[in-house]
Amino acid sequence: MGGFDDDDLRDYENEDLGFDEDALNDDEYDQLYDALPKIKALAKNYQVDEKALKEILWSNYFSVEDSFEEVKQNYKREYDEYVWVVPEGGPNWILTSRTANVEAGAAGTATQRTHGPARAQKRGQRGVVWSSWEGQEHAKTREIEKAKTGRDQTGRTGGSGNTERGRCRARPPTSSASVYYIIQHTDYRSKAAANFAKPGPDDRKVENLTEKVAKIKIKEPKPVASKPKQRIDIDAELAKKNSKPNLSFVVIGHVDSGKSTLIGRLLYDLGIVDSKTLHKLTKESEAMGKSSFSLAWIMDQTQEERSRGVTVDICQTQIETPTQKFTIIDSPGHQDYVPQMINGVSQADLAVMNIDANSFESGFSNQGQTKEHLTIAKSLGIERCVVTINKLDVTQWSQTVYDAICDQIRQFLVDELAYDVANLVFVPTSGFLGDNVVKPSKNLSWYTGPTLLQVLEQENRAVSHVVDKTWPFVMVISDIRESSKNDELVISGRINSGIVQPGETVSISPSQETAVVDSISITASSVGSSVIKHDLQKLAQEGEFVELKLKKLASCENIKIGDVVTLASNVLQPVKKFKCELNLFNIERPLLVGTPFVLFKNGISVPSRLSEIESIVTKDGLSKKRRHLSSNNTAVVVVELLERELPLLTVAQNHKLGRVVVRKDGRSIGAGKILELVA
Ligand code: GDP
Repeated sequence: MGGFDDDDLRDYENEDLGFDEDALNDDEYDQLYDALPKIKALAKNYQVDEKALKEILWSNYFSVEDSFEEVKQNYKREYDEYVWVVPEGGPNWILTSRTANVEAGAAGTATQRTHGPARAQKRGQRGVVWSSWEGQEHAKTREIEKAKTGRDQTGRTGGSGNTERGRCRARPPTSSASVYYIIQHTDYRSKAAANFAKPGPDDRKVENLTEKVAKIKIKEPKPVASKPKQRIDIDAELAKKNSKPNLSFVVIGHVDSGKSTLIGRLLYDLGIVDSKTLHKLTKESEAMGKSSFSLAWIMDQTQEERSRGVTVDICQTQIETPTQKFTIIDSPGHQDYVPQMINGVSQADLAVMNIDANSFESGFSNQGQTKEHLTIAKSLGIERCVVTINKLDVTQWSQTVYDAICDQIRQFLVDELAYDVANLVFVPTSGFLGDNVVKPSKNLSWYTGPTLLQVLEQENRAVSHVVDKTWPFVMVISDIRESSKNDELVISGRINSGIVQPGETVSISPSQETAVVDSISITASSVGSSVIKHDLQKLAQEGEFVELKLKKLASCENIKIGDVVTLASNVLQPVKKFKCELNLFNIERPLLVGTPFVLFKNGISVPSRLSEIESIVTKDGLSKKRRHLSSNNTAVVVVELLERELPLLTVAQNHKLGRVVVRKDGRSIGAGKILELVA
């Protein structure tokens, strides 16, 4: 995964505040945003930003009056425009202050006021600064003097001035009439900004250069499409392939429900793993004190997976029966590896949800992975689901247990996830003992339905394998293998739409590298044989898992897992923002505009944030504007990718690739359908 853990993502928006806006409940949130404009209006002349105002409101229980008192006590005033009226014989000393009570120092007697700051400090009135020769105050006193004498205080132009303990002296007025000093408090920030807005001497040079550079036309390297190596009858080739259709299914479910064991059993009973291999795995697992894992080890191949006894990454196996092909994806059940599970689901046509009948509740609870996995699968476009109620040997093959679990899962799938009941199949199994996986079970006398293998064959027949060859070729890279030659690379993945042939030029986004497809192969293990075949293909079509050997690559380094491959005639431009229909799951805190989260799709994860809430679908179907989203809301939102651009497709362009999952603090919080790409 991408070099960071989403658990590490901090809500940096609020981290310097003493409160956490995300943690507010709906009521508090509404109070905050009701009071915020009011306090902003009152405190507009104070040097206090919005974040601090929110914190002040929160700490004053959203009372605008109390909050304003706190602002007045603790924050400096911005400069306003004050008019000082100094009567004849008025003060020798003019004191200025950055606070609202400047007028007190105006016509009062200077000698009395010189102790003001100390008193103010004592009262805790921070920010009272008396006139000095420095910075802004100095400039102001110069203006006073200028208003009076027409000269400034430096004396060079006739005025006089001195410094004395940080105060400035203005001459006593000489006229008999009242003298009005109008002090235009200078807004130095705007002044500086205005100065920088004017072109300086060097700016013109830069402008000229920019104009020249703009005229230079940089040639966009346009990828040149190339013809397939061989002229073939595409329709005949597609018909041949579809005579043995391929179904890909992902096995999902809570950790330890027996997913790897179930797949191991399937492979063993189909003869793809021979007894010799299983015997070797049994000995190895016994040596590590994990003899019950021998079947699971067929799929869990890494040292980490074997020593921890959990699947860490997705593992893919292709098998063939005399009439059908299957791609099996084993996915991790542990909550730490949900991102890998998302990757597995995004490559599958069908989900097999495996349930441990012996500890159903722990998997089905909110802390378990059963509901989260099912929700993610549905959100990522999986419309058909097979549910295996496994480990029935431990429950003495109880039909009561089986029926009770089926009822609860069916209810969740239909009521909460809107699955069509006709697209759900339930199968009792024991992966460990092999009951009802490939072989029917004598222990399950009350069950008359099909075995798991038979169900998978039925599902393969139920899925439409008709490929619309007019759809553009799109494949997401799930693995990369280096070749011995510098300009060659072997990439593998599932073809998401369209077809591709050897000889054609492809473009890889976001790097926009181009390459020529040298060869296409499918790796498969046949029933009864442990040999893995690399079948060279004349073309590859939607739904197939293939290896593409690429050549004529300018640079292999820019190609990454999760990149999208298209034909050179159909280059995908990566984007930074997109509009999507976001469905939120059960979330603990409201999701505010600006909230960061991690976006997951096809094996990649990217830090992102909620940039805009366009509309929210309410119960009565109406759409209204809100600044935050709560549990189970559906909203049209704009999502911004924070670290890099991604090549994306809308859900209309690709039913599966146009979907994303969003996670925060290590939990899946929602899923979205991409509606529009924003450049
Ligand atoms: P995963 O984490 O879902 O892949 O689960 P594993 O396949 O690694 O199995 C976890 C444990 O459950 C192992 O000890 C298996 O031997 C055990 N197990 C798996 N299937 C069954 C079953 O059908 N019956 C019994 N009794 N144990 C099983």
